[in-house]
Amino acid sequence: MSEHTITVAGVAIDTRHWIGGERVASTQTFPDVSPIDGSTIGDICRGTAMEAAAAVAAAKAAFPAWAATPRAERARILHAIADGVEKRIEELAIVETTDNGALLRSHRRGVMPRVAHNFRFFADWLLSLEHEDFETRGHTNHVSWDPAGPCVLITPWNAPLMLATWKVAPALAAGDTVVLKPAEWSPLTASLLADIAAEAGLPAGVLNVVQGYGSEIGDALTSHPDVRRISFTGSVPTAKRIAESAAANLTPLSLELGGKSPLLVFADADLDLAVDLAVEQYDNAGQVCLAGTRLLVEEAVAEEFTRRFVQKASTLKQGDPRDEAIDIGPNIHPRQLEKIDGFVQRAVAAGARAVIGGQRGDGQYYAPTLLTDVAQDSEIVQEEVFGPVLTLQTFTDEEEAVRLANGTRFGLAATVFTGDPDRAERVTARLVAGTVWVNCFFVRDLQAPFGGSRLSGVGREGGTWSFDFYCDVKNTVTAPSGWRNHG
Ligand code: NAD
Repeated sequence: MSEHTITVAGVAIDTRHWIGGERVASTQTFPDVSPIDGSTIGDICRGTAMEAAAAVAAAKAAFPAWAATPRAERARILHAIADGVEKRIEELAIVETTDNGALLRSHRRGVMPRVAHNFRFFADWLLSLEHEDFETRGHTNHVSWDPAGPCVLITPWNAPLMLATWKVAPALAAGDTVVLKPAEWSPLTASLLADIAAEAGLPAGVLNVVQGYGSEIGDALTSHPDVRRISFTGSVPTAKRIAESAAANLTPLSLELGGKSPLLVFADADLDLAVDLAVEQYDNAGQVCLAGTRLLVEEAVAEEFTRRFVQKASTLKQGDPRDEAIDIGPNIHPRQLEKIDGFVQRAVAAGARAVIGGQRGDGQYYAPTLLTDVAQDSEIVQEEVFGPVLTLQTFTDEEEAVRLANGTRFGLAATVFTGDPDRAERVTARLVAGTVWVNCFFVRDLQAPFGGSRLSGVGREGGTWSFDFYCDVKNTVTAPSGWRNHG
């Protein structure tokens, strides 16, 4: 173990960058703090433009060989990475929980298995990726997906490894090489992924990981002329900065951003189901981009819905996310907690009523909060809080429901509870959202498109959409034999 190794629950983690198949240190570090108890987990290498350039150079050097690697071999290595993830699920789960405070039980049983599945899914999808050739005036059109080049992948802290691999897996499958920059509040599992990929036989330089503050290393990555794709998940203000920086080289961008998604409950809905899934919006302490944070409930059932919601929410246990009995863990950072509380206190000052919550708990915990008496154009209804804070508004008919649902600048997701299939069809057709759930929540197949409309993002990923993004799609038109151009 080097002086750069830290251990979390017995798991050794290298705190350096991973560039060109080697661990590389920086002269400076930044502290990685656990949201569970505010303790410093370790000091992580703090990348600068120099490490950014070295990582892109490594990705560029590794690109030709990886792009030329037969699809079956690329798929085999991706499956080997998935095997490595599966072997280390317990380790990855405890490290991620310590680092970002999300529930250990969901990391163990949902998130980390899904990380492995990300690699398996895109490996298999790669092998099935074919368009039928087609003909134009006797000429054959053949469509192929050519690897694009080095990609910069930048990820947030709320689901660090899950969101990273949602980008890394399709990029590697496509034959691209990667520089991954995880969030500075949750840098650890990206380092473990580098170990797992190396053990799986991924050649040096195909996956590189650089650590550091986005404000210090980000621009050097996103403005680099050798980078052929940038995929970013995070906030709208950062996305705007990245888009400006990428504009210098017209680097294609995929942006998965924030949301303020509506959850509509019609009077004809199964109210117990609607309440159960509405309370689930507090998952991960509300730090979920897709969360349906605006409850829109038909007037006729609003009182009953609220009563059952409050009852159900009161059973939630908040505390140490390593405890299997806990439902809600801490928020990521004191700064985030302050931001959440600022939103709530301003809403209350503007006339909102906290039916439950409305204040901080001990440490880095915020009480699950439901605010009523909120105006459609108020800050609390319009802006993403990214904490355990929901608003409740009522509507009297479908027209008003759709107007309120679509009445923000976001368009990531929407959820509709109704017992009437015709209504479901009418309403979902009118909602502006990348994903709409009817009488369910959070279920998603990796073949399906995922992304946001309006300020919630640019582009779609998943299945073929991912390959369309990570590849230079090419059409090769071949003349029939003996063909001559006679004008
Ligand atoms: P953020 O924008 O602050 O940071 C995201 C990443 O960008 C981090 O790695 C950060 O270091 C990096 N970064 C910061 N400045 C940069 C710069 N100038 N250049 C390049 N990189 C830079 O977001 P966050 O607070 O980490 O994440 C929360 C946000 O992410 C929320 O808005 C949430 O809705 C969104 N999110 C969206 C999805 C989705 O799929 N749509 C999923 C999860 C989270």
